[in-house]
Amino acid sequence: MKTRKIEVITLGCSKNVVDSERLIKQFKNNNIEIVTSSDEADSIIINTCGFIEPAKKESIDTILRAIELKKEGKIKKVMVAGCLSQRYKEELRKEIPEVDSYFGTEAFKEIITELGGRFKKELLGERELTTPKHYAYLKISEGCDNPCSFCAIPLIRGGHRSQPIEKLVKETEFLASQGVKELIIIAQDTTDYGKDIYGKRNLAELLHRLSEVKGIEWIRLLYAYPSHFPEELIDEIAENSKVLKYIDLPLQHISDSVLKSMQRGISRRRTIELVEKLRSRIPDLTLRTTFIVGYPNETEKEFKELFDFVRETEFDRLGVFPYSLEENTTAFHLGDPIDEKTKEERQAKIMELQKEISLKKNTALIGKKLKVLVDSSEGDFFIARSQRDAPEVDGEVFIPAEKNKIKVGNFYEVEIYDCNEYDLYANISTKSKK
Ligand code: SF4
Repeated sequence: MKTRKIEVITLGCSKNVVDSERLIKQFKNNNIEIVTSSDEADSIIINTCGFIEPAKKESIDTILRAIELKKEGKIKKVMVAGCLSQRYKEELRKEIPEVDSYFGTEAFKEIITELGGRFKKELLGERELTTPKHYAYLKISEGCDNPCSFCAIPLIRGGHRSQPIEKLVKETEFLASQGVKELIIIAQDTTDYGKDIYGKRNLAELLHRLSEVKGIEWIRLLYAYPSHFPEELIDEIAENSKVLKYIDLPLQHISDSVLKSMQRGISRRRTIELVEKLRSRIPDLTLRTTFIVGYPNETEKEFKELFDFVRETEFDRLGVFPYSLEENTTAFHLGDPIDEKTKEERQAKIMELQKEISLKKNTALIGKKLKVLVDSSEGDFFIARSQRDAPEVDGEVFIPAEKNKIKVGNFYEVEIYDCNEYDLYANISTKSKK
């Protein structure tokens, strides 16, 4: 049976979003129509996540739902790709044999061939955007060389492989030609960019080259790794007007004994020095981070240390995840001694603290002006983001639709008149009205 209509379900992180966008581009150029609901589809492909327990559960639930539709005769084919099947292909084949095909990550050619199409090399670097057309993720490398003890990603995605600058500039020119204004730089570890193909970490040079692409106005950096943060990158972020004063820097913990066991390659002292250096050299920096609570050797003492660090450092954006025991990781032998209830309590305590910090920071912005990019309009409001807000994970700026005649996809200067813990409320400023 030749597939005509396919639903692509993307789970997990922005790196999976990019993979799905590449796949969709190939589908469309093989006369396969993309539909957004299984009611219209004859086939479903699920681009899964297999990183930690909750993500694995979501992927399996999604597969089982698709299988139900197949059993009901509503769809004919179910295909599974991405990280979960890369990691557990044989187990999945045994446990859910109703799936027609299991693929790993980056199996674009195999998937297209399976659907009776021809993989088109000439489309490499091109994508069908699934994000709002004015922003897009740019995946600058695949895989990871870091030895973080809790992480299964290197087992799934392999070692670090950078994309050449020329190829990324070409992809960015393509994205800009599609109307993209904000480029969001992603990888497992963006700060490792270039070391494998240029013999040195040169993310700064890449950002500089990307900022020269006509149409790109904002460049946002995610997934920076603390233990090898390149000096010249700090200058590029500080001096390049198109590179946002925003850094996502997952720290995972602050206690020396936990950082050591996590094999993060950095100490408490060096972490604090890095945060101070970034804040002193990049004015108005928005710093996002993530932490893991409930790691096997995190006693109440280490958790208190982390809690105090969050209180003292006052990050602009912060996420907390409970430790997930993952087989074949180097921490696996430590077991999972901290119970789920304690992990959830620790996660809640830090998120409660961060809520206060975020409210204080938002309140300080009332009366201030910010440049925003309008993502969508929902009900009485336009939803926008400032340089402080990465899509999906940070706050938003709400602009009353009645009083502000603006367009989705455009930049405006706004003036903040109210806020809550996470979001801001604003009207476009007189300057933008001109
Ligand atoms: S940097 Fe560490 S946590 Fe991130 S993908 Fe690599 S190994 Fe995993």
